[in-house]
Amino acid sequence: MSSERVVIVGGGHGGFQMAANLRSEGFAGAITLIGEEPGLPYQRPPLSKAFLKDGDAARLHFRPQAFFDTNNIELMPGTRVSRINREARHVTTATGTEIGYDHLVLATGSRNVRPPVANLHLENVLSLRNLADAADLRARLSAARHVLVIGGGFIGMEFAAVASDFGVEVTVIEGADRLMARTVSGAVSKHFLALHEGRGTRVRLGRFVSELLDDGTGRVAGVRLSDGTEIAGDLVLIAAGVAPNSELAAEAGLSVSNGIDVDTLLRTSDLSISALGDCCNFPDPVSGNRVRLESVQAATDHARTIAKRLTGKPAPYTAVPWFWSDQSHFKLQIAGLGSGADEQVALEPEAGGLVVINFAAGRLISVETVNSAAAHMSARRLLASGRPVAQAELAAHNYNLVDYARAV
Ligand SMILES: Cc1cc2nc3c(=O)[nH]c(=O)nc-3n(C[C@H](O)[C@H](O)[C@H](O)COP(=O)(O)OP(=O)(O)OC[C@H]3O[C@@H](n4cnc5c(N)ncnc54)[C@H](O)[C@@H]3O)c2cc1C
Repeated sequence: MSSERVVIVGGGHGGFQMAANLRSEGFAGAITLIGEEPGLPYQRPPLSKAFLKDGDAARLHFRPQAFFDTNNIELMPGTRVSRINREARHVTTATGTEIGYDHLVLATGSRNVRPPVANLHLENVLSLRNLADAADLRARLSAARHVLVIGGGFIGMEFAAVASDFGVEVTVIEGADRLMARTVSGAVSKHFLALHEGRGTRVRLGRFVSELLDDGTGRVAGVRLSDGTEIAGDLVLIAAGVAPNSELAAEAGLSVSNGIDVDTLLRTSDLSISALGDCCNFPDPVSGNRVRLESVQAATDHARTIAKRLTGKPAPYTAVPWFWSDQSHFKLQIAGLGSGADEQVALEPEAGGLVVINFAAGRLISVETVNSAAAHMSARRLLASGRPVAQAELAAHNYNLVDYARAV
């Protein structure tokens, strides 16, 4: 499709990578990258980490404007797409402009969930998804005395770590009985609970916030939990999970379940439309289950897979998922998906470090590491090889992933 036009909706991680990969794969047609956020596409992970400390927004850009000019990528920032017309093959922006496509890529990401809590409108109640949110949070953090974080997932805990570095009192309130429960094993949750409590952060597990308290001037003064307990605080971060931005696709009649449904080639139910990243769910090549991942690596690998297909080199998406989270001086890395694990082996190779090896039916499926980069890289290599790794084989190497990966 060398003389055709690819339109990409969403100028985040996946959208940017999609445009860049199309060019690096030799696509010669027109590329239009439409994103509702202002400015150049930027990296999101530092928003809950380095950016809160240094406030350096320019460092977040993937590439300068010159990159888009040189590669003939038409960038349309500050533009929201409000409709897809599949018959006419065009999208319509919120201001009514119609933009035609031969192939459309939906890279619309996800948005923060608003939990059922009263008074979310109060001043100093924030959430964190984009650069504007992070700049606002950063400005208010420097004046805060007691921060309350609602939600003990990755973003909530990364923010808690930074806030406590600022010398602010921090309390995290999490409804589940452990931290980051959706994505990590019990051993990793426990490890991070000890880390955060050791730094003075208070963590209330198994508690739900029912109401935010007003100081009488419209500003937040704390929270009330469902058991009636009140906790004072002058800045609240709502970090209660995300939902896929799949409405555009659903309204156009595409198949949508937990996100936009795609096949192993990342095609939607309309073969002229692909979807990638946080907004799509795809068949996991290992388990066969449909999964939706919220990670930079998935968005990036999805973009690569689609770019290859659109330039005549189709191949299914088979990359091993991996994730990371930086909390204080601890780096959590996860290779593979551990949700189907029926057995776990946890090791503490060095002070502060942790390796959790997850097995299903006696086979390696995922590895979670804390400050153990070598074990993480070995796990990724082993999982990517496609060769099944039996638990007994690893046991014979004392579960030392680095030694085992060298030996096979
Ligand atoms: C604070 C924070 C920290 C994170 N840290 C990590 C981390 O450490 N490691 C990791 O792997 N992942 C991390 N993530 C997750 C990671 O950033 C996402 O998984 C990744 O950005 C997904 O890429 P995407 O292209 O699918 O979506 P996004 O990067 O979210 O981009 C989607 C874009 O589409 C735009 N859009 C949506 N609808 C429309 C429309 N109708 N018209 C035009 N534009 C539209 C949105 O405004 C957005 O700019 C973090 C996320 C956040 C918010």
